[in-house]
Order: sequence, then C-alpha cells, then structure tokens
Amino acid sequence: MDYDLFVIGAGSGGVRASRIAAGHGARVAIAEEHKVGGTCVIRGCVPKKLLVYGAHFAEDLVDARRFGWQLGERSFDWPTLRDNVLAEVDRLNTIYQNTLDSHKVTTFHDRAVLVDPHTVEVGGRRVTAAHILIATGARPLLPDLPGTELGITSNEVFHLDALPKRAVIAGGGYIANEFAGIFHELGVDVTLINRSDTILRGWDPALRDRLLTISMAKGINFRFNCRMTGLARTDDGLRAEFDGADPIDGDLFLWAIGRRPNVEGLGLDAAGVALDDKGAIRVDDDSRTNVPHIYAVGDVTDRLQLTPIAIREGHAFADSVFGGKPWRVDYRNVPSAVFSNPPLGSVGLTEAQARNTLGSVRVYTSDFRPMRNVLANRNERALYKLVVDEATDKVVGAHMIGPDAPEVLQAVAIAIKAGLTKAQFDDTVALHPTMSEELVLMR
Ligand code: NDP
Repeated sequence: MDYDLFVIGAGSGGVRASRIAAGHGARVAIAEEHKVGGTCVIRGCVPKKLLVYGAHFAEDLVDARRFGWQLGERSFDWPTLRDNVLAEVDRLNTIYQNTLDSHKVTTFHDRAVLVDPHTVEVGGRRVTAAHILIATGARPLLPDLPGTELGITSNEVFHLDALPKRAVIAGGGYIANEFAGIFHELGVDVTLINRSDTILRGWDPALRDRLLTISMAKGINFRFNCRMTGLARTDDGLRAEFDGADPIDGDLFLWAIGRRPNVEGLGLDAAGVALDDKGAIRVDDDSRTNVPHIYAVGDVTDRLQLTPIAIREGHAFADSVFGGKPWRVDYRNVPSAVFSNPPLGSVGLTEAQARNTLGSVRVYTSDFRPMRNVLANRNERALYKLVVDEATDKVVGAHMIGPDAPEVLQAVAIAIKAGLTKAQFDDTVALHPTMSEELVLMR
C-alpha cells in the first residue's frame, strides 16, 4: 500500500483526522479539489460570522448616539468588507495547508475517485491505501424548478460584486435567518420565504417566535407556506413565482433550503460503500462504513451537520484506528447557535423533548430587556429558558435568544454536560450586571 490512510476531502473532519493519524505515525495522504479548509472555513461559518460582525455595526452606530457619540455621515462599502473577509479566509486556508504539511501529510490538490476498495485515482495517478476516510462534506440543496439556476447559494454569497437592493431568501433554517440578518443590516430589503409555517423547526417555539417578532419589527419580510413554482428573469431583476400567491421581485435570490451529502462521482459503487435512505454514507458508531477499512465523517454522513462534530468524528476515527485509543463521539448535549440578529443558542433537550422523554419537568424563563438595549431605546427583549428534570433537579436544556447568546450558551453547555442541578445553578452568585446572570437568578 502507498499509504496507511487516504482521506478524501480536506475540510474540518478530513484535516483533523489526517493530522491526528499522522501524529500517530501513519503515512497519510489527503485529496481536495477546492481549497483546503472545507465549507466552514472557506464558505461557511467563518466568513459568515465575519459578515455578522460587519453587519452589526449598522445598529451599533445608531445606538451609539444614545450613548453620547456624535457621528458624521455613515456609509458602508461592501467591497471592503467582502475583500477583508476573503483575505482572512485565504489566511486560514494557508494555516490549514501548513498544518497538513508540518504533519507530513501529502496533499493532492485534485478530485479523488475510488476505483476499488483500496485504490484511489487522483491527479492522473492511482494510489493505494490500507484505510480510506471519506470526508467530502455536503453542498447546498437545489430544488428542481424552472429557473433554479438564477438563484445563488451560500457558496456564491461571499463573492457578490455588489449588494442587491432586494434579496429573496428561500428557506427558514440556519443559513436563511443568518443571511436575512446580515443583508437587512447592510441595507438590503429582505424577504424570507419558507415552505412550512415556521422558521427554525426543532428550536424552542418561544425563541422562534421571539426571532420572528424582532426580525419583523426590524423590517424583514416573511412569507410562509410558500409553494414556489419557479424563478424568472424580469427587466430589472428576478421574480419568484408561487402557486396561489403573488410573485415576489428581487435582485438576488438565495437558496438556503438545506444541504445534501457529497456522494456523487466518488466511486462509492466501485468500492462497495453503501448509502442510507437519505443518500448519506451509512456509518456505525465508529464512523465505519459497510466496508470495514473505509470510514466516513462529517456532513457526508449527515449525522449532525456541525463543524465541531466533524472534527470530533475525525479525531475519534484517527485515535481509534491509528492511535490504539478507541473512543466515540457523544452526540448528547451538543450546543448549537444561529447567528441571526439577535442570535440564538441551544443545548440539550427542548421543553417539548423533555416532556416527552422525562415526564415531569420544570421550566424557568427569564424574559428581559438587556440594559444596553434599554439605554439605546431598542425595544428588543432577550429570552432565556432552562429545562429541568423534576426527578433529579438536573438542568437538561438551555435555550436563549439575545445579544451574544451563543457566547453565554457555550459556558452553560459545560454545566449541562456536567449534569449540574438547578440548585447548583442557584447556588452560584450572580455576576452583576451581565445578561448571563439571569441563568442563576431564575426562580
Ligand atoms: P436547515 O436544515 O437549517 O433549514 C432548511 C430550511 O429549508 C427549512 O426551513 C426547511 O423547511 C426548508 N426546506 C428543506 N427542504 C426544502 C425543500 N426541498 N424545498 C423548500 N424548502 C425546503 O438548512 P440550511 O441550508 O439553513 O443549513 C443546512 C445545515 O447547515 C443546518 O441544518 C446546520 O446543520 C448547518 N449550518 C449550521 C450553522 C450554524 O451552526 N450556525 C450555520 C449554517 C448552517 P421546514 O420549515 O419545512 O423545515
């Protein structure tokens, strides 16, 4: 065999697995047809979060007046933000590549295709490997409608030549709400359309309602229960057409209706790797496919589409297979955030899940106006919710929306993972004045 491990896809999961396996002494090669770094670094979490920061200045500059700041004329230059963000992405791409190089991982900047269970064709060569890891991630889902191609996805949104005047966003999930917030702050007229009657399915209903209320008050338009029939070009832009509802005109249309695993054209058939009924690579608790020496981690397995999960899956695989230290990813109490404006954070069971699984639960809420918003005359309330198991007094879920909610949530996630009780929360002295003190003041 040419290598002990061949990794297909240099995103979060693939890079982590390569680095750790190489550290355990394995001879490792990795193939990447785009830039090293993957969705999160190149066209996802990282550039998105930087745009969130950039966009938030719009409100900060307005609020600043209430804090005594006299500001001159404000203007926003999209190319400056875009290019600075893309430069940061390039910097991170270099760091990822350096990590691979310094661990003596061979990088093929090419598409890799399996030709049999131990052989990969890459860059016009055939190489063999004892183990293969598929970490090819996912891509935006596109509907099969006339004019679908007139819309863009999160892949293209970071590269816009100019900001549109009117943006229409299809979807009601993470990406739709995050870009609704970013575009709106940057002065774009935003309409979010979703096929169902809600946003952020699965999240606590009170938080979803709060985001919807605040978003609407800010001026974001929503349309629910949309049966879209197609996209068409008009004289001055694009028109989204619907069955039984008026069309919506815009200059930019963003598809954000979910992501599907990248399994096509990889030679999975040739290697005998099976998919599950959702079209993702089927794996067991050790990320092993039905072919014993072929593994898969990250979004291509469609377990939890989150970067830190892909990283852990890659790490666990490398430690288990090459380090003689087998361990498994624990999917319980995984924190998650939506970087909308305001953002949401959640960990553990929602109230509904707790009631269904635990029987008797206590729920505590704090519905408050952050003091900064009070002075800024910004009528936006935060909402924190704790879900407690009545039988054990353990806090089994925390859900919050408000400024910096994801920052607060990460710390609460430690307490919940550790199985702390509500009494222990209450026993903790409040840190005043903060928003997070609400966590220990809910009675
Ligand atoms: P989500 O899965 O979050 O949401 C998909 C949305 O699109 C839902 O509102 C859903 O409607 C709707 N939808 C689903 N299928 C269709 C369809 N065939 N036609 C029309 N509408 C459809 O998708 P995103 O694209 O926003 O994000 C993908 C994943 O990436 C997320 O689930 C998350 O795991 C990850 N991600 C995480 C982020 C973070 O951690 N901050 C940021 C961005 C992405 P319905 O209401 O019926 O469910």
